[in-house]
Amino acid sequence: MSSLYVEKTNIRRLINKVIELSATRAHVIYSQYIPLTWKAVMLCLDCKVAQVPWMKRWSCPPYTINVEDVKAMTRQYPYALIVNVEAPFPFFVKASWHTWNPFLHVTQKIYSHIFWSKLHTIMVGIKKYFGEESISSYCWGSAPCHGCFKCSFPQKCRKPDSFLYSPEASGIDLYRIAQKIGIPVEIPPQKKIQLMSLALFDMP
Ligand code: SF4
Repeated sequence: MSSLYVEKTNIRRLINKVIELSATRAHVIYSQYIPLTWKAVMLCLDCKVAQVPWMKRWSCPPYTINVEDVKAMTRQYPYALIVNVEAPFPFFVKASWHTWNPFLHVTQKIYSHIFWSKLHTIMVGIKKYFGEESISSYCWGSAPCHGCFKCSFPQKCRKPDSFLYSPEASGIDLYRIAQKIGIPVEIPPQKKIQLMSLALFDMP
């Protein structure tokens, strides 16, 4: 297996479906090429979502599946669907990286949340599509779970059908995937929001 990309006749149909769900790009690669690292998990432990009690979500450490679990899953599911959502920053969001103005910071947060939620909805749609097509799969979400505005944590998840784990919190290095397949991620983001998620699957 030398190519990164999977070439199968039914892959085009799957990619069309993802674009129809309003993703910007979708690629299917062999899941053995998914970069896994505990560093991504450690960074998530340092995130406000993991540290501030009222921001905690069931999708994040220490509640997620871990690197070893995902490694085993890449053996179970040979293909990985990589999903990307891209949107240009309007002028007030771009400016927020260079200012202390709290209004601009709040607008940037709200703007980013719209696209995190959009990617989450796409991933829930992909999960549903795989189910309808009887394709065995495992789907992640968009950063922390965006199934609800405010998570029910520490009470049990109120929307199990919308629940998706964070890919970063599961040890998946999204930036290295972006580099491998040529998704133009800016670090730090200046001109556009660039979000990614993935699903592992098997199909005949
Ligand atoms: S679906 Fe809602 S309650 Fe469940 S983990 Fe996600 S945000 Fe929390």
